[in-house]
This record gives sequence, C-alpha cells and structure tokens, in this order.
Amino acid sequence: MATKGSQRTGLAPSADFFHKLVSAAPGILFAYWLSADGESHCFPYISEQIRPQFGLDPEELAETADPLFAILHHDDTDDLEESIRESAHALMPWQYRARMKMNGTGYQWFEALSRPERQPDGSTLWYGQFHNIQHYKVLEQELRASESEYSFQAGFQRLVARLSTEFINLGFGTIDECIDELLKSVGEFFSMDRAYLYAFNEDYTAITKTHQWCRDGVPSLVDEDQTVSVDSYQCWRKQLLEMVQSNQVAHVEDVSDTPPDIAVIHTQSESTFSDAASVFCVPVRAKGDVVGFLGLDSLAPREWRRDLHDLLVIVSSMLSGALERNLLEEQLLSQSIRDPMTGLHNRRYLMPRLSELVERAERYDENFTIAMLDIDHFKQINDSVGHLGGDFVLRRFADILEDLIRATDVVARFGGEEFMVVFPGTEQSAVKQMIGRILAAVRNGSFVFEGRAIPVTVSAGVASVRERDDRMISVDAVIGRADHRLYLAKQSGRDCAFDISGPLGL
Ligand code: GH3
Ligand code: MG
Ligand code: MG
Repeated sequence: MATKGSQRTGLAPSADFFHKLVSAAPGILFAYWLSADGESHCFPYISEQIRPQFGLDPEELAETADPLFAILHHDDTDDLEESIRESAHALMPWQYRARMKMNGTGYQWFEALSRPERQPDGSTLWYGQFHNIQHYKVLEQELRASESEYSFQAGFQRLVARLSTEFINLGFGTIDECIDELLKSVGEFFSMDRAYLYAFNEDYTAITKTHQWCRDGVPSLVDEDQTVSVDSYQCWRKQLLEMVQSNQVAHVEDVSDTPPDIAVIHTQSESTFSDAASVFCVPVRAKGDVVGFLGLDSLAPREWRRDLHDLLVIVSSMLSGALERNLLEEQLLSQSIRDPMTGLHNRRYLMPRLSELVERAERYDENFTIAMLDIDHFKQINDSVGHLGGDFVLRRFADILEDLIRATDVVARFGGEEFMVVFPGTEQSAVKQMIGRILAAVRNGSFVFEGRAIPVTVSAGVASVRERDDRMISVDAVIGRADHRLYLAKQSGRDCAFDISGPLGL
C-alpha cells in the first residue's frame, strides 16, 4: 500500500506549510467574504504578496476589503461589484478582469478566478486567486492595433483600386461626377469634414473652387466656382507656391495659429477665420504643371497618421492622372469631330446627330430640315487666287455661317467646299429666310485675300425629313434629296436655293 506523502516526510500540513506553498504561487490567493446583506466584506485570508505589490496590509484587509477595492480602476469598479453580486446570487464561479493600481507602476490588468461557497449565516465566501495579465493585454492591444492598421491599409488600397477603375471607365459618369465621388470617398475614408478641389489660374494669382464635398451638417465656406485672389495674401501665397514647387503636401495643423490669410481660402474675408482646425493641401498636376490642389479640412483638432501625407499624394496623383487623361480625351475628341481648317464640326460628328434627330422626329412627331450649301465655281477661285486663297474663302464662309445660325442649329463642313446646316424643328418659312440671309451674306461679303477682293456665291439644296406626304425618310434619303436640289440650283444658274417646291424665291 502506498504511503501518504505526509507520513513519508513527516510533514503534517500546518498554517506555516500553506504559507510557504502560497508564497510560491504565481498569483495572489485569497478568501473573500461578503455579508448576507452585502453591506460588509473582507479578506479573511490574502497572500502576503499583496503587501509588496500593492502596498496593502493583509491584516487590514481581514477587517475590510475596502482598501483593495479603492485601488481598482474607476472604470472597472461598478461592473466588478455587479459581477460579485451575481456570483453570490447564483453561486457560480467568479471570473473577472480589471485594472488595479500597483505600487509604483500605475494600473495593470489582473484576472481573478474564484469559487463561492454559501455560509450557514447566509454570507458568501469565495476561494480563489488573481494574477497579472498585463502582458497578454498588451499583446492583445498590439494585435488589435496591427489588425486595424492592416484593415486601414487594405481599405485604402481598395479605395484607390475602386476609384481608379471608376476613373478609367468613367464609371460615375462624367469626369466631374468622378471627381465628386473621389472627394466624397476620400473625405469619408479619412474622416474629414470637407474635401475640395481648387484650380489655379494660369499665373497662380487666383484659385477657383471647382468641386466640393462636405460632411452632412458641415457648411460650405466658399461657393462652387467662386474665385479667390491669392495675391493679396502673402503668407498663403508663399505656402501655395512652396507646395507647387516642391510637390509637397501643405499642412496647417492649427489654422488659428497661422496668419489670417491662410484661413482666407475658405472665407475670402480677412476678418473671418476658417472654422477648420486642420487643413491639408495637396498639389494636383496635369501634364507636369500644377493645375490646382486637393484640400481637406478637419473641423476638430486630432492626431494625424504619420503617413497621411504619402497617402494624400497617392490620391492626388490619381486625380492628376484622371484630369490629364480627360484633357487628352477632350482634345482627341474635339480633333476627331472638328474640321481643323474651319473649326466647324465635321461629317463624323454630323452623321450621328442626324440619326438622333431622325429618331427624335419619329418619337415626337417632329420635323427637321437640312440645307446643303456648296460654293459656286470654287475650282475657279482656287485657280485665280491659289489654294491658300481658296482656304481663306472656306474659313471666311465658315465664319459667316457660324455668325448667322442660331445656337440650336448645327453647322458642319460636309467635305471640300460643301457645308451642311441642320435646322431642328424650325418652320419652313424661317428656314427659307435663313438660307436667303446666308446667300446674301456671301454674295455681299467682302472676301479679300492678299489685297484682292474675291467674288463668292453659294448655292443650296434644302430638304426636310418629313415633306408633303408627311412620311419619315432616312438620313441618307434626306441628304440625297438635298443633294439633288443643290444640283438643280447649280443647273439653274447658281447663287440660289431649291427645295421641294423648286426655287426658293429669295
Ligand atoms: P460648282 O459651282 O459646280 O460647285 O463648281 P466647283 O468648282 O465649286 O465644284 P467642283 O466640285 O468642280 O470643285 C471643287 C473644288 O474644291 C475642287 C477641289 O480642288 C477644291 N477643294 C476641295 N477641298 C479644298 C480645300 O480644302 N481647299 C481648297 N483650296 N480647295 C479645295
Ligand atoms: Mg462648288
Ligand atoms: Mg462641290
């Protein structure tokens, strides 16, 4: 039969024995007592370590537990007391984490584990221990911080990816809508109160706000399209120019600390300060030049990420890229739909417009009219004044057309010395009048090239998409009819116009 340890060593567990055992335990062992009415409590037993670690006296704690509760962190006290009452009521093991003020090192986290036992008089006694878990708490916080940093970075990457896709496809619509969406997304992501885009004028003396986003309830301080002069505000001007030159983020941490003209960008009035606590400005470039800046305001002072400047530079370069591409696309588009010599729209632009007009006329039971205009004896003009003189006549004729037609009419160079004017939904009598005016303006217009007056006349063929039988015809058919009537005008001696009824008695 096995011999009991106590018999083998000759040691019977005594108070001294338990003292030694407890002193080697990693935590603080205790017996905590709470009276049946919950009014008094004490630690009938608590390890000696309570003295060096917390500066508390076990003998005093044996009288009342108050000194130990007094060193609990204020934020933890109420919940801790509530959980003790619950444990007493349900006689369930008590486990709790709270901060306690240690001797010299301030508050640290502890975890207590104990088991309650009801006493014959209705009071409760817990047997348990608490130990320091500060190390785990720190690790947990670090983990949480690195998780939140990771999710911030991932969120930023997602934001950039989403915005750049939208910018490439113009997914939000026009470039303006894309910029509005960028300002909103970036403003919200960085928890700013305002995000805006200003454009510089050419000599950097004025800035115009072109786009803005404001958080709900945050007032706009400058109206859209409002122009602010930079020149009269030396300090702000210096900051802006430095930002432009160095391509750096200009950051005003505390607007109220800076000369009033920094704040003026928002208010345009020297007497009123901006309501922003912090302002960030990031230059935006297009084709290498700074064309404006992205601004972000925070109304409340706060701490900023150290890499915020780098992140904002990424956002601004995305904006720069989009503006640059948009500029290029606009140029290409305008090149592709305009005739470089006269500046008028070309056939590539005209044909889809005509198709749209046919559809519209069909849907709304409307009509429209076209006039095909062709300069008379242009070959002879070329022969007499040379090709450059011919070009001059073409440009001058284009100017006359543009001067005379209304904003709703479309004029295009159809090819060579042939032009087309489209009159959407115009009365026939008004069209006739307009053609008459064009022919007269050309006939009487002074075409003077290198000191030589060139006599110029033009003939026209007029056709509508619905004519006498009111039946709709195709784009090709209406052009065909206008072409045929132009031919008739040429046949009948030029400097005149024909429509369905014959010569247009102008
Ligand atoms: P009509 O009165 O019957 O219209 O006679 P026209 O001489 O005006 O007509 P035609 O079609 O015989 O000649 C048109 C000329 O226009 C031929 C072409 O060399 C010239 N032309 C076409 N495009 C240009 C251009 O861009 N510049 C110049 N200078 N001439 C052009
Ligand atoms: Mg001609
Ligand atoms: Mg011709």
